[in-house]
Amino acid sequence: MEIAIKAENILKSNGLRKTQIRLEMLQIFMGSKHALSVNDLEKDLKSSHDRVTIYRALNSFEENGILHQTPDPNGNMRYAICSESCPEHVHQDKHAHFICEECNQTYCLEDVKIPNVELENGYQLNSISYTMNGICKECQPA
Ligand SMILES: [Zn+2]
Ligand SMILES: [Zn+2]
Ligand SMILES: [Zn+2]
Repeated sequence: MEIAIKAENILKSNGLRKTQIRLEMLQIFMGSKHALSVNDLEKDLKSSHDRVTIYRALNSFEENGILHQTPDPNGNMRYAICSESCPEHVHQDKHAHFICEECNQTYCLEDVKIPNVELENGYQLNSISYTMNGICKECQPA
């Protein structure tokens, strides 16, 4: 399926209004192998926009289970597209994230699942992250 049509379908199936910026953002995320920061997005966007609009779109994508947050090397947030199974408000992306020390990109390792951990009594779990650092595929010497 063409990426533009896919982006439209994602908006439609989540009941989100179709705007140029949302369509463009989704296409950028779908075309990227790694997670993106707000700065990355700003660089890639062609249509005019302001930061508030970008943040608002990111929030609604996150709430609707379209994007999830991932860490970056500086402790800031990046975003990556969810696997197709994320329902609204409950992210099920329980996979590990990999930060490359060479290119500083964050990758979703969809096939590396976070192991189940038992919490101590009295603690309520809201989110969990599992981050590994190293050298990514692209940066390995051939
Ligand atoms: Zn998700
Ligand atoms: Zn790398
Ligand atoms: Zn991820």
